[in-house]
Amino acid sequence: MKLLSGKVAIITGGASGIGYAAATQFAAHGARLVLVGQNRARLVDAVAALGPEVASYVVADVADADQVAGYVRHTVDRHQRIDILFSNAGIEGSVANIDDYPIDVFDRVVAVNVRGVWLGLKYVMPVMAKTGGGSIVINSSIAGFKGFPQMSAYVASKHAVVGVMRSAALEGAAQGIRVNTIHPGQIDTRMMLDIETLFMPNDPAGVRAFIAGTIPLKRYGTPDEVARIVLFLASDDSRFCTGGMYPIDGGVSAGQAV
Ligand code: NAD
Repeated sequence: MKLLSGKVAIITGGASGIGYAAATQFAAHGARLVLVGQNRARLVDAVAALGPEVASYVVADVADADQVAGYVRHTVDRHQRIDILFSNAGIEGSVANIDDYPIDVFDRVVAVNVRGVWLGLKYVMPVMAKTGGGSIVINSSIAGFKGFPQMSAYVASKHAVVGVMRSAALEGAAQGIRVNTIHPGQIDTRMMLDIETLFMPNDPAGVRAFIAGTIPLKRYGTPDEVARIVLFLASDDSRFCTGGMYPIDGGVSAGQAV
């Protein structure tokens, strides 16, 4: 059974990693898609793979208000509605203790990971309200409920979007707009490889093996495994879920107070 027939979804960071895996799942379930990102070549390839009758793209920086308004306008012009926003675009920043952490990198991480999410909600929610509501899924992280040394900007940003999500869930409920966060653990994408390399440039594979050993299920997750919970939250199957935090982390959060 197709879970998203007739629905229109925006996916930020939709041309790679978890965003592209979600695009693939959404398309298989009948949604029409608008992919947002910064790398035009990757967006072109993603749309070609999904099919131009299913997907289109907008090159935009999610931290820029005019560009966010632009991707929302593109979606309304093309589809006249927005049912789903997967607010997924994010950056990892640097790996350094706070005293050494570059201030400009901190500002950029917060701009993309927090302001970018907030701006998406700001422009999408009024459109959703006009057609009776929709579902917004924000990609936080296990870094949204636990600390990691040397990743303070990323951790701060992923905690912050939980606050954005909770406020938006309360504001949107009367209009039928549901808002939830997902909290992936270590997932096998470009981002984790970059983090491993930043921690130990000479031995990223060693970092991976060490981290995997700390995960109760003893491995990284795949983008597709994350996409399946995004699909659930985006679909009407989750119609009573709003304001919630959904870990998908191989058991890491079982050892934390969430
Ligand atoms: P990724 O680097 O493949 O995906 C990030 C996407 O965001 C890319 O497509 C990138 O082009 C896009 N992006 C970055 N800055 C942007 C900007 N300013 N404007 C528009 N698009 C921008 O890596 P990923 O792992 O798929 O990351 C996706 C999300 O998942 C991120 O928010 C990340 O924090 C979160 N996450 C990842 C992991 C993991 O282990 N990989 C774990 C938890 C959460």
